[in-house]
Amino acid sequence: MATRTATHEQLMAKALIVYERLLATYGDHPLVPRREPMHELISTILSHRTTQSNEDIAYQRMWERFGSWEGVRTAPLDALIEALKPSNFPDVKAPYIQGVLNRLHKERGEYSIDFLRDLPVEEGLAWLTAMSGVGIKTASLVLLFCFSKPIMPVDTHVHRVSQRLGLIGAKVNPTAAHGVLFDMLPHDPPFLFNFHINMLRHGQRVCIWGAPRCEQCPLTDVCDWYQVHRPTDK
Ligand code: SF4
Repeated sequence: MATRTATHEQLMAKALIVYERLLATYGDHPLVPRREPMHELISTILSHRTTQSNEDIAYQRMWERFGSWEGVRTAPLDALIEALKPSNFPDVKAPYIQGVLNRLHKERGEYSIDFLRDLPVEEGLAWLTAMSGVGIKTASLVLLFCFSKPIMPVDTHVHRVSQRLGLIGAKVNPTAAHGVLFDMLPHDPPFLFNFHINMLRHGQRVCIWGAPRCEQCPLTDVCDWYQVHRPTDK
């Protein structure tokens, strides 16, 4: 089915409607750091293709076994992989984590990324994404969640819901979606935080993988997917 291409102004207007409706549905969340920046960074690396509870268990096991970032950095790789087993791909994530710690040890002499607070967002993004295992999603989450930087993290749920709504095109991959969505939203950190959190919730609860639960959705009238797939009278 051919669809008219929306202008940038129309997409901005639609994004604001989506924001307001999801805010009314899932609430307004204060942008307060949920955990210390190093914890956020390492946990986000552990979260890839892993449930929240298994990510938490892996983090706790790592901390109980090695007791400090220095302990994690200098641990035998096999032992760190073993500790991280509740998370998927521990053999990949363990070297990533030690790579982050080695870089901090070498460059800064301390295991802290608090310096990112004082860097412009683009510099912080470049510093983080220069490391293996830290992609734009992880870096954006850390910069927004921990340091209230104006940036738009896009995870798999935000990406899927944005595509179905028609905020981003079918060919826009998750990496590109970070910039596309950011350009159509107000560059206000609390706004971006709530847009991210509530799009994620919507993707987990209603606009799920497979068949979305459109009958529960407050966005049907602005959703491209729904206009094409909605139930029709016989
Ligand atoms: S109408 Fe359906 S496809 Fe569109 S955002 Fe809502 S749940 Fe997702």
